[in-house]
Amino acid sequence: MSSTGSIAELVRSLTREEKLRLVHGAVDPDGEATGYVPGVERLGIPPLKLVDGPMGIRTNAQPATAFPASISLAASFDPDLARSFGTALAREAQAYGQDVVLAPGVNLVRVPHCGRSFEYFSEDPVVAGEFAASVVDGVQSEGVVAAAKHYVANNQERNRCGVSAEVDERTLRELYLRPFRRAVEAGTGSIMTAYNRVGGTYASDNRRLVTEILKGEWGFEGFVVSDWHGTGSTVGAANGGLDLEMPGVPATELFEGASADGFDPESFEPPDGIPDISRGGLFADPLDEAIDRGAVPEERLDDMVERVLGTMGRFGLLDGTARDDGAIDTPAHRALAERIAVRGTVLLENDGALPLPDDANVALIGPNVHEAKLGGGGSSEITPFRRTSPREGIESRADGAVEVARGVPEIAEPSLFDELPFDVGDGDGSPGEIEPIPTVNDAVATAERADVAVVFVRDAATEGRDRERLALPGGQDGLVDAVAEVADRTVVVVASSGPVELPWHDAVDAVLETWYPGQAHGRAIASVLYGDEDPSGRLPVTFAPEADYPATDPRQYPGVDGEAHYEEGLFIGYRHFDSAGIEPTYPFGHGESYATFEYGTATTVDERTVRVSVRNVGDRPGREVVQAYVRPPRRDGITRPARELAGFEPIHLEAGGTRDVEITLDERAVGRYDVEDGWTVDPGTYTVEVGRSVGDVRTTSTIET
Ligand code: BGC
Repeated sequence: MSSTGSIAELVRSLTREEKLRLVHGAVDPDGEATGYVPGVERLGIPPLKLVDGPMGIRTNAQPATAFPASISLAASFDPDLARSFGTALAREAQAYGQDVVLAPGVNLVRVPHCGRSFEYFSEDPVVAGEFAASVVDGVQSEGVVAAAKHYVANNQERNRCGVSAEVDERTLRELYLRPFRRAVEAGTGSIMTAYNRVGGTYASDNRRLVTEILKGEWGFEGFVVSDWHGTGSTVGAANGGLDLEMPGVPATELFEGASADGFDPESFEPPDGIPDISRGGLFADPLDEAIDRGAVPEERLDDMVERVLGTMGRFGLLDGTARDDGAIDTPAHRALAERIAVRGTVLLENDGALPLPDDANVALIGPNVHEAKLGGGGSSEITPFRRTSPREGIESRADGAVEVARGVPEIAEPSLFDELPFDVGDGDGSPGEIEPIPTVNDAVATAERADVAVVFVRDAATEGRDRERLALPGGQDGLVDAVAEVADRTVVVVASSGPVELPWHDAVDAVLETWYPGQAHGRAIASVLYGDEDPSGRLPVTFAPEADYPATDPRQYPGVDGEAHYEEGLFIGYRHFDSAGIEPTYPFGHGESYATFEYGTATTVDERTVRVSVRNVGDRPGREVVQAYVRPPRRDGITRPARELAGFEPIHLEAGGTRDVEITLDERAVGRYDVEDGWTVDPGTYTVEVGRSVGDVRTTSTIET
């Protein structure tokens, strides 16, 4: 039942009422799915179940493996790992009978404050695109549909349901659309539209983006699903190209507690970051009526249904051939969650304090050392079967004494769900206090007694809200300062959603960035701290003081009068720091290793490939991420970033080992988008800079085009 012919036939045999049932969500009778499309029993069409994503499977109240944050996965710079992750995610979805995973999140980190940067991959479109494609590939290799999200320019959570991204065509093409295009090239079965508007029109209703670019130019044949309560209008969205409205019913029908708690849909005014959850069903009766009065062509409804059923057919979901029991919380998934956490950990700085000697006496300091940092708040929250806190991880690995002092009160976990006017019962509370009143003095005294102080700090981020500051909350900077002052050695381990300010980085001996490491937090960080594993992550976002980032003018971010003007154009992330000549705290691509790498001379293999030999001259095995940045020739009248990442390759090298590494350069990174002519590669000589980060170029070569 998967060929186009038979799908079209199937659509013809449906009544209007049945077709409408297939283009908007309904309440899942099992109460498990995030989104549910009832099937048509008469014709043997089964229901379609959609579930969050992207850091694990979030059904209602069922546990699942809590994988590290997407930004941690990207920090591994290892697309094969992302493919394995996608496979595991799909297996866990299948274990709960789910058909579509609402993942990956592929928006770029335009502003470092973005509350969902932990759910995204990078500030760079090549990295985001590679990871988008790999996760899609992994998920779908198991017969589960991926839904890459949020199309497009959902780059801030502040006013996310109202703001209009005013972004010029070239910037949209060269930056924000690219990861979505890669997801489409990888065959994603679904794309989710964003809450925000783009150029004044809601993404869900945006004919130019959805029908012309996504479906027309890129040939996307799957279905386009709205974000939850994120459909702008019935007629606009239907004619714009949206195929499936989610959740398709008002929140009062989804959550039992909603009406009981006195939630009044009539007078509901959504707080910032929350969509209008009192609405739903725009593709139910209102679409029926719009077709009757000729405002939406009947063929459009047929096309919507054909796309939903066509995708189900492609994945064997119509005749049940893809039904698999899946697997959840397997030893392999647990090990994978730990491996990603290790590979995503970035060693920002190391003056020799790491790895820790096995027998070091450790002062374990930090407000949340007793708690694994699973993820940020919102739709990606996972309840794991098991988790290890930093304290548990270190206590079980250390041979020396471990003395704990929290220093400052616990940093609370914010959540989108706290903003809802009723209880959705997520109930994954923190394990609670381990000492009554933490004080900096206690932490200082503990640090004084130890060989090394290891201080765990974290930020607090959730979907639906941007971080107001890049500084760490809750007096944690003061705690680090006080400890560093007295400790023989101070190692700081940061768990953050994206860039944070590290004002004390010169005063401490080592700094690690773990992002949100998920359920394996404690085990992963212990193996890195003690050198059982190389911290092989690299930064997929630039770290700098807040004031040095681009888009700091309120017109750009958060926007004025409901419009965020992307006046910085192409110059986000390292493109900005590079071109403006500002040295960040840690550049894009940066990450130290316990090994030491030497680069040979880069050579050009052909106009799209460079080769370089890399040697591990250290005395430990390690992982290197070889990066290639392309510097285009100058052309009069054309502004381009000084350099752009065009390719990367992660490698493992034993001590003394050497590898010849070939890097294929991304064609669109070499080229540029011309508003008249589309993607263009200007003729000329391009310098290819090969090295360890955008700030650490080791060798160059040239290509001619
Ligand atoms: C988020 C989506 C998510 C959806 C369903 C929305 O709030 O923006 O990413 O998939 O909810 O939970």
